[in-house]
Amino acid sequence: MKIINKSNLPEPLFRAISLSCDAYAGKGEEKFASVTELFRPAFQQALYEKHYDTLEVDAKRRWHMFLGIIFHEALRKANNTVSGVIAEERLSIEIEGHRITGGFDHYEAEDIGIGYEEGILIDHKLTSGHKIIRLIENPNETWEWRWQLNAYALMLTRAGFPVHRIKSAAYAKDWSEMKEHRSGFPLFHEFEFLIEREEAVEAQCYEQIAKLKSERAHTFGRLPGEAYRECTPSERWEKPQAWAVIKQGNKRAVNGGVREDQDEAIGIAQRLTATTGKKHLVEYRQPARTRCDFYCDVRDHCSSYKSYLESTWRFQ
Ligand code: SF4
Repeated sequence: MKIINKSNLPEPLFRAISLSCDAYAGKGEEKFASVTELFRPAFQQALYEKHYDTLEVDAKRRWHMFLGIIFHEALRKANNTVSGVIAEERLSIEIEGHRITGGFDHYEAEDIGIGYEEGILIDHKLTSGHKIIRLIENPNETWEWRWQLNAYALMLTRAGFPVHRIKSAAYAKDWSEMKEHRSGFPLFHEFEFLIEREEAVEAQCYEQIAKLKSERAHTFGRLPGEAYRECTPSERWEKPQAWAVIKQGNKRAVNGGVREDQDEAIGIAQRLTATTGKKHLVEYRQPARTRCDFYCDVRDHCSSYKSYLESTWRFQ
């Protein structure tokens, strides 16, 4: 995979992005998969591996990854020398003969009196304030974080470091005092998860291993036929088409005003116009596959994405 400068970023920044993203932790490890790869959509991961050598990714699309690398490096430097803390280290585990590797962020082997306690494992996430708010409102969407942390906890426990609590600490990279004041953006929020039984973590990892093995077999042509599974709607971060009720002159939909049923949206707009005396309109929102559209390096090689583009009218 090659990082290219299609967007003409200033050369020093382009070099910094290329170098840091190319030297990501875990590169060159002997493994079946890393924990991150294991919990990605299996179809996407298999396509990524197949086209890895010829993939070209614009440096601009690595911006968030680059910020994440700087963030983790700063955390590692600041914490790895503190007695009792192990930060930003890599471990591995064998599951049914498959070597899974992973880098955990912060583990406290003893209580060092900085607010955390012995046996706590923290995963630091640099993300957007909107995403933190969305996850607080929809805790089911933290599924991936929960299982990743459980996998790291199992690795640490097997290596002789018992884990008693697990948390993802999410930090808003776009936080500002003004956003906190106006929209309730938190600078950070901690999501605490239950530590699952070892067998449950192994079973969950094995389920992912089996999916990835099967996708690899199809993608690399070792299994006959067109039996490709594709990413599921939730893996594609899919939003169905919808109709939004909007007060005339505004851009955002009214509270609770985005509906998948057009007639329902029209009914709400008519009622609001009648009760408030202000005209309300209905605006069409086309369906979207957010991961495919903005976060997938292999979309140009994906048959499912190709058919989606062919079948959907899109505003260009
Ligand atoms: S383009 Fe979408 S469907 Fe295709 S691999 Fe990427 S995320 Fe999955």
